[in-house]
Amino acid sequence: MKIALIAHDHKKSDMIQFAIAYAPILMEHELFATGTTGTKIMEATKLKVHRFQSGPLGGDQEIGAMVANNKMDMVLFFRDPLTSQPHDPDITALIRLCDVYQVPLATNLGTAEILIKGLERGDFGWRTIVQAEGENSSNEA
Ligand code: PGA
Repeated sequence: MKIALIAHDHKKSDMIQFAIAYAPILMEHELFATGTTGTKIMEATKLKVHRFQSGPLGGDQEIGAMVANNKMDMVLFFRDPLTSQPHDPDITALIRLCDVYQVPLATNLGTAEILIKGLERGDFGWRTIVQAEGENSSNEA
């Protein structure tokens, strides 16, 4: 599965702890992140992470593009609800796209734990079907 990891500055330590705790599960998957989040995860773990631009410089939009192309299976986005973000429209757009494409999205650590445990249990098998359908319809277009 393709998993996106994003954390706002005040949530980056939570994301690092999460990545360390669940590294054995995460390493079985393809990981993507906004720039700084990805760098910090790679410094703290042995995980390989494809890094996009930093969030304020367009990273959330790059991840959104993957969602819109059916190329992202899960988004773990540790949002900071107490600090205003210069790229708030990008954040809203990414969350919206996850809803448009029914991509499982966690916006906090509590939900992320549930999703990652579901992933370990095999609850994401349906995503393979969605991806196959996406490929078939893009072949038809
Ligand atoms: P960052 O971006 O990982 O580059 O800090 C996250 C964000 O603010 O959306």
